[in-house]
Amino acid sequence: MRRIVVVGASAAGLAAVETLRREGYDGTLTLVGDEPRAPYDRPPLSKQLLAAQWEPDRLALRTPDDLAGLGLDLRLGVAATGLEPVDRTVRLADGSDLPYDGLVVATGVRPRRLPGEGAHVLRTLDDALTLRERLTPGRHLVVVGAGFLGAEAAAVAWGLGAHVTLLEPAAVPLAHAVGTAVGQVLSRAHVERGVDLRCGVTVTEVTEDGVRLADGTVIDADEVLVAVGSLPNTEWLDGSGLPVGDGLVCDEFCEAAWESPRPKVGGVYAAGDVARWYNPLFGTSMRVEHRTNAAEQGMAAARNLLRPEARKPFAPVPYFWSDQYDMKVQAYGFLRGHDEVAVVDGDLAERRFVAVYRTGDRVSGALAVGMPPKAIRLWRQAIAAGAAWSSTLRHVTL
Ligand SMILES: Cc1cc2nc3c(=O)[nH]c(=O)nc-3n(C[C@H](O)[C@H](O)[C@H](O)COP(=O)(O)OP(=O)(O)OC[C@H]3O[C@@H](n4cnc5c(N)ncnc54)[C@H](O)[C@@H]3O)c2cc1C
Repeated sequence: MRRIVVVGASAAGLAAVETLRREGYDGTLTLVGDEPRAPYDRPPLSKQLLAAQWEPDRLALRTPDDLAGLGLDLRLGVAATGLEPVDRTVRLADGSDLPYDGLVVATGVRPRRLPGEGAHVLRTLDDALTLRERLTPGRHLVVVGAGFLGAEAAAVAWGLGAHVTLLEPAAVPLAHAVGTAVGQVLSRAHVERGVDLRCGVTVTEVTEDGVRLADGTVIDADEVLVAVGSLPNTEWLDGSGLPVGDGLVCDEFCEAAWESPRPKVGGVYAAGDVARWYNPLFGTSMRVEHRTNAAEQGMAAARNLLRPEARKPFAPVPYFWSDQYDMKVQAYGFLRGHDEVAVVDGDLAERRFVAVYRTGDRVSGALAVGMPPKAIRLWRQAIAAGAAWSSTLRHVTL
């Protein structure tokens, strides 16, 4: 293999190029990214950067020297616009073509938007800097969507002295992800601080003055942040024959499957938020938007691409964290679609607890709030081992 192209210059793409070099690949290595900036870290965007505790240079994932040391053909500020898998060529927006022997797709996701103009989203450094400039004390911020991103931004805005209204269509924020009882406990943190949390509310439109709800009510706001989920960046693969369905569909090795009857051409792997791959540990395909997964999958995809004869299934226990006010939330596993939640340590009401999740007859996830990392790490092992629910510790079912 003499030419490898990685599309997407962020956590997953960077991990892929570094792994390729570390594993001895010395051919041409092109890293393409549509953002003009060198790779930077996103989690601080809704935390330390938005809170003006950190400045942008602190988010850089690597120094210029580190990047130079990788010997990359670095193409920043240019998007990939097409893929011709039979000729093995990536087309770029500047009209050039990049032939490849191997390709890693790491193009991430972008925010879903609502009809209407003028709302903020929070995905890039520029998004975060623009919002932060506007979050002065006394301004009214409406956050649409009380998922992890919306909740973090609401917490930071409250801390900066803004008035915050948090609008959520579900009856309980995050219930679909973490269960109703845990979702209620997390959302109480907003209410106790005076954030105006309104659930069961659907926003249909962003207006000049704020947002319009499904019942016609208009909520006035100085700023609106839309945090209603994301869409995988796969449009550039349209027409390539690669199967796209809420992400680029991959097998357990992170290699892209191909639409039948088109013959499999091979050599295309995916990693990070854009990848929907089959995780054999859970026996299901999944796409996760977690920082740690992006790096780990970037490494796994690169290794499998480079050494197909020794490739290994990518079977991680996903991990994510979230910081809201003084709360640190940490979770392992795949919590969505769980059948039961149980608190095994601490106290839910005090927001210091470990909750574990059952899917079928096994432990599928664990979530901790306000606990030391070791309190949840044991559960990671149980999840990785596919431990049966009945064999785990005594618990109190919620
Ligand atoms: C505000 C915020 C807070 C977060 N907080 C947490 C957290 O607390 N914990 C956690 O676990 N995770 C968190 N995440 C998620 C985490 O940042 C992502 O999982 C991670 O960034 C995914 O990395 P990635 O490389 O797969 O994709 P991305 O970081 O999305 O990078 C993809 C890159 O590809 C580029 N691209 C897209 N299309 C093209 C194209 N056609 N051609 C060229 N380039 C293209 C994109 O512009 C982008 O630069 C947060 C994310 C955000 C936005």
